[in-house]
Amino acid sequence: MKKITQEENKPKNIAILGSTGSIGTQTLEVISTHPQHFKVEVLTAGNNVNLLIKQAKVFKPNVVIIENKAHYATLSEALKEEPIQVYAGKEAIDQVVEMGSIDMVVIAIVGFAALSPTLNAIEAAKPIAIANKETFVVAGEIVTRKAKEKGVNIYPVDSEHSAIFQCLAGEFHNPVEKIILTASGGPFRGKDLDFLRTVSPQQALKHPNWEMGAKITIDSASLMNKGLEVIEAFWLFGLNANQIEVVVHPESIIHSMVQFADGSIKAQLGLPDMKLPIQYALSYPHRLSNNFPRLDFTKLSKLTFEQADVQNFRNLALAFETLERGGNSPGILNAANEMAVEAFLKEKIGFLQMSELIDSCIQQIPFIQSPSYLQLVESDLETRSYFRNLIK
Ligand code: NDP
Repeated sequence: MKKITQEENKPKNIAILGSTGSIGTQTLEVISTHPQHFKVEVLTAGNNVNLLIKQAKVFKPNVVIIENKAHYATLSEALKEEPIQVYAGKEAIDQVVEMGSIDMVVIAIVGFAALSPTLNAIEAAKPIAIANKETFVVAGEIVTRKAKEKGVNIYPVDSEHSAIFQCLAGEFHNPVEKIILTASGGPFRGKDLDFLRTVSPQQALKHPNWEMGAKITIDSASLMNKGLEVIEAFWLFGLNANQIEVVVHPESIIHSMVQFADGSIKAQLGLPDMKLPIQYALSYPHRLSNNFPRLDFTKLSKLTFEQADVQNFRNLALAFETLERGGNSPGILNAANEMAVEAFLKEKIGFLQMSELIDSCIQQIPFIQSPSYLQLVESDLETRSYFRNLIK
């Protein structure tokens, strides 16, 4: 076993993009647990200026950025006594990842907004710990190609992808037959169309096992989250679509599995706690001790598995379809889904309408076989505008 060298012993300077969200705040908890290993260099937020101010006062980063410029005055006034540089706006977030002092960038922004800073971080050759899955869905080809060209390591934070990454440790030259992504099934597992037609955002926001941001919680209820994860796994692990299987596992104890060419299956298990995959991404290849809650097998009554219901939850099937089609199709799916989730949360559309509207966008927005980055951005904007017209 390789020893930790003096260089590795120095705290890693971490930039957290999206520090005020569910993944961002849990990343800060992990960092607080290991002050000798990690130091906060940059914090960024979208709108939650009060939490960003609190975090800045506790973690003393060198730079903080708020995306919404309307909050700049509040932020800079609150931090004027601190030796912290304060900026605002999307461009500042895009640029900050290039700072020479950053050792790792944590991508914890939700949605398409994470794509440009992720690409800039890769361009600046920064190692990345990524929770955001929309980046791979929209531009998986560009992101993974650029990372390869720049020799940048991308460490998955998403629990399923972290599980696969952990199962693959020491197996990188062994052929994989398939990977098995587990899904909790969300709060509406087993429900029929009559029930799904009437569900409210409040019901959909109650996930049985995980506490997460609003967008991913709705995605979990509609199974779109699993669809996005299939596409994320396709790019992260370089597999064919038919090597990716989804199985519903309501207890969320097995986080995912890998089946190798000899039929042997490895699984990664643990309590549903995002701090674990976050810590692994930050500390890889080392495992750091912590006092996070442990899994007690004597308290587990059973582990169960069932097929995903793609008849009533069409989003998973739609995601597989766009993956097969390739090009800008998954990006259209993503943009339409971001719009659909927002509209559902604002009670402008019903739960089942989300899949119908996403499907319309996939059918109507022009297909591009090998889109450039700019074409992906244009296609994203076109999808959002088409969606807006659909629900007018
Ligand atoms: P949250 O909604 O809780 O947090 C999102 C973060 O991004 C917040 O800090 C928010 O700022 C910031 N943000 C939002 N929009 C913008 C924008 N346009 N520009 C800059 N910053 C922005 O999301 P989660 O933490 O739940 O999820 C983050 C990502 O991680 C998602 O892609 C999700 O799919 C993925 N993920 C999440 C998991 C979880 O357990 N939560 C598990 C696995 C993956 P503010 O709040 O200040 O407005």
